Amino acid sequence: MRVYNTLTRSKEEFVTREPGKVAMYVCGPTVYNHIHIGNARTFLSFDTIRKYLEWKGFEVRFVQNVTDVDDKIIKRANEEGRSAAEVASEYTVAFIEAMHRLGVVDPTVRPLCTETIPQMIDMIQRLIAGGHAYEIDGDVYFSVRSFPGYGKLSGRDIDEMRTGTRIEVDERKADPLDFALWKSAKPGEPHWPSPWGEGRPGWHIECSVMSEAELGVAFDIHGGGADLTFPHHENELAQSEAATGHPFVKYWLHGGMLQVNEEKMSKSLGNFLLLKDVLDRYEASVVRLLMLQTHYRSPLDFSDSRLDETIHAYERLENLVRNLRWARTLTAKGEGAPAEVCSGLKVHVDTARQKFEAEMDDDFNTAGALAAVFELAKAANVFLSEYQVDLCEDDKSAIGEAETTAIELLGVLGIDIPEAVESAYPVEVVELAATLSGYAGDDAEAAIKALLAARAAARTEKNWALADAVRDGLMGLNFTMEDTPQGARVLYNG
Ligand code: AMP
Ligand code: ZN
Repeated sequence: MRVYNTLTRSKEEFVTREPGKVAMYVCGPTVYNHIHIGNARTFLSFDTIRKYLEWKGFEVRFVQNVTDVDDKIIKRANEEGRSAAEVASEYTVAFIEAMHRLGVVDPTVRPLCTETIPQMIDMIQRLIAGGHAYEIDGDVYFSVRSFPGYGKLSGRDIDEMRTGTRIEVDERKADPLDFALWKSAKPGEPHWPSPWGEGRPGWHIECSVMSEAELGVAFDIHGGGADLTFPHHENELAQSEAATGHPFVKYWLHGGMLQVNEEKMSKSLGNFLLLKDVLDRYEASVVRLLMLQTHYRSPLDFSDSRLDETIHAYERLENLVRNLRWARTLTAKGEGAPAEVCSGLKVHVDTARQKFEAEMDDDFNTAGALAAVFELAKAANVFLSEYQVDLCEDDKSAIGEAETTAIELLGVLGIDIPEAVESAYPVEVVELAATLSGYAGDDAEAAIKALLAARAAARTEKNWALADAVRDGLMGLNFTMEDTPQGARVLYNG
């Protein structure tokens, strides 16, 4: 496997710290509002990476924090006349619920910033003791000049940053780039006791502390959106390596930004979409399918028209599974044709599986992996439109394998084809069978078989009116029917 590492700006062979195990950390949300679909894209990307690593057989320890104290949370709490804790807890619950709706698996551990304060104080003390941080009037700052590698993640030169970047000017800081590890309490803000007086942690320190506590040093994957590379991840790296003296992370993975209708998503442009509102309108599998058709590192354009197109793509996959299931029931009892008339469907199944894995092994290329599944769908549809009722043994097993392979591979990407597809034939078919064939049950598949048998019998008896009534009735319910030398073949077109 190869992954693109932001730190080295290259694709590298993926070798984990411990064989068979992956330790990964993905920065979580700041809970002052419902998450938007940009946040959702980043969380979905890393959920998919995790699912794939687990499918490959790795034991994955996945840590994701919740930033439950922060300026934006405090601002909202003050505006609404409630406590920061109340605001944070409301949106933490909402975040977890929205993640579940999107099919994102819970992290192994979900530490909260407010529950990690003593450990943060401990790391800040270590940094002060090591000459990497200093206190002024109850605030503690990290000294970027004390860490020679500062800038290596985002590829910036510390001296250029001073002139190139807009930084808040605080005369008390030794260097304008120095950032807060601890902020002294201001009126109306939540605060905790510390050796430097009452206050609260700066944003960056929590991720350094939580990842060290849960994953140790030099863990495998650190993820987040590309907008976090600087300053957040640059600062995490500096804090952690300065505090521990060890490399912080092996592979840094950054997700591309989501845009809406080719514009940056922002509140002021009014194109700000919340995940929960999108999920009220579209199935999670459709949202996942849309997002995963773009590589996680590339920018992604999100729009209703793309979602609508994706519904059709998703239906193609659903129909494929439905038709394969149907073909399997039809052929299960067949006699078996000679091997020389085998269609080669099995080769397509094996190719799809190999291509899926090769694409995912290449920096988690979900777009290529999905293309492999769609190619299988295409091959299977050709097969289904040409197949004979008496199949060779290879073809018979390939039908089942095509179905389970499509379901398994899509499942790795969190795209589910519901079981209900199996019985998704219209209920009217039961009624049609009752009228035309005397079928007395309530099972749609059995009803279709009864109709086909009735039609075959009618044709033998030259009862063309009945034979046509069966065909027209099925066509009216959106089936297509073809006669082959081996018998009638029916496909349901959804
Ligand atoms: P925040 O709550 O702002 O810290 O963001 C949580 C996660 O969402 C971070 O990993 C961000 O990088 C990511 N994120 C924010 N905006 C976008 C966007 N438009 N597209 C993709 N990811 C985003
Ligand atoms: Zn972080």
